Amino acid sequence: MSPARRAEIVGAGFAGLSAACALAQRGWQVRVHERADELRTTGAGIYIYENGLRVLRALGAFEEAVEGAPFAHTRQVRDEHDRVLSVHRWDTRTRVLSIVRQQVINALASAARRSGAEIVTRSEAVAATPDGGVSFADGSAAAADLVVAADGTGSRLRDGLGLVATRRALADGAIRLLIPKLADEPPDDGTTIEYWSGSRRILYTPCGQSEVYVALTMLDRDAVAKATPIQTAAWKAWFPHLAGLIDRIGDRGRYDRFEYIRLRRWSAGRVAVLGDAAHALPPNIGQGAGCAMMNALSLAVHLDRHGDIASGLAEWERNERPLTEHTQRVSVLLGLPTTWPAPLRRLAFRLAGRSTWVVRQRTRTAHHRPTGTTE
Ligand SMILES: Cc1cc2nc3c(=O)[nH]c(=O)nc-3n(C[C@H](O)[C@H](O)[C@H](O)COP(=O)(O)OP(=O)(O)OC[C@H]3O[C@@H](n4cnc5c(N)ncnc54)[C@H](O)[C@@H]3O)c2cc1C
Repeated sequence: MSPARRAEIVGAGFAGLSAACALAQRGWQVRVHERADELRTTGAGIYIYENGLRVLRALGAFEEAVEGAPFAHTRQVRDEHDRVLSVHRWDTRTRVLSIVRQQVINALASAARRSGAEIVTRSEAVAATPDGGVSFADGSAAAADLVVAADGTGSRLRDGLGLVATRRALADGAIRLLIPKLADEPPDDGTTIEYWSGSRRILYTPCGQSEVYVALTMLDRDAVAKATPIQTAAWKAWFPHLAGLIDRIGDRGRYDRFEYIRLRRWSAGRVAVLGDAAHALPPNIGQGAGCAMMNALSLAVHLDRHGDIASGLAEWERNERPLTEHTQRVSVLLGLPTTWPAPLRRLAFRLAGRSTWVVRQRTRTAHHRPTGTTE
């Protein structure tokens, strides 16, 4: 019997942990390196659509990841006068859940460990080489059949391999946070609401049994809006009808600017680049982690079909990249109205909500059956 193939994975986010599960479940000897001292993610919620839910199921993380998370059936866009501009209802074949991020990370980490993967914290990688070498900040090094660079948008491993074709900071960003649910919180009827005022928006999403996920989105040049802790008086002036919600935010929240990343290739020799490191996208259709998890599972599936790493990686990229690039294009496109004058933006949302072509484009990723999922 040939010895198990060995993978060193850098980064324990959605991408790295999903790859750890999928590879370990296919007989690989897997070690995940996380530079932080614990597996911690942004204190926020996340939408996981049907495609991502299927991957979680295939990885054995579904039950723990979704426990208590509500289904989001309907998404409304409202203007600064609280008037509804567009409504999107998901059909029953396409589930969408809003989940506390940390719960998904914990579920993926448990599934990875159950499958035999080792997760090492306080382990920061500094470089990888196409022959499967990886070196660490503490001076140590390792060699593997496969190195997975899942180290996020600022990926040091990717940059060291010279793989970037485009890396662009986008015009907007967001402050994300969770607040405790109140006893008299409006009943959760599966509706998430995105409120607009000028170029600023507030997304309100019930998330789990005890928390509400709030995302404040603004132009990056809007210094008042992107300040943290948030400038309560300014936000209340922009969204007077949401004053109660804004008061509950306090000093919570972290700002991130959106990015778009496109690589020349998704791999170099034995190093595969995965997740935001390979294809960061703005969150306008909530599919960054969805794509990261799909591409992690499919990476393991394609490598399983090939004894030879180069052939497996080539087939993986050929098969999976087109959908990821479609998702990136649609996400960028749907972010464009942020910089438009309000009347034009209102018109765009009304038309986009009614256009079956636009709806088909924006839901294509959610409807996709990811490689490696059987149900
Ligand atoms: C405002 C906002 C809202 C979003 N909403 C959604 C949504 O609703 N649905 C959705 O699917 N996606 C959403 N996304 C996108 C999603 O958050 C990302 O696509 C996802 O987190 C990418 O996962 P990742 O594992 O590739 O990277 P990350 O989550 O960034 O994880 C990378 C990990 O690598 C570690 N690391 C970095 N460098 C090193 C190193 N040198 N050595 C060791 N470890 C290292 C980091 O500490 C981190 O743990 C949103 C993004 C934003 C900004």
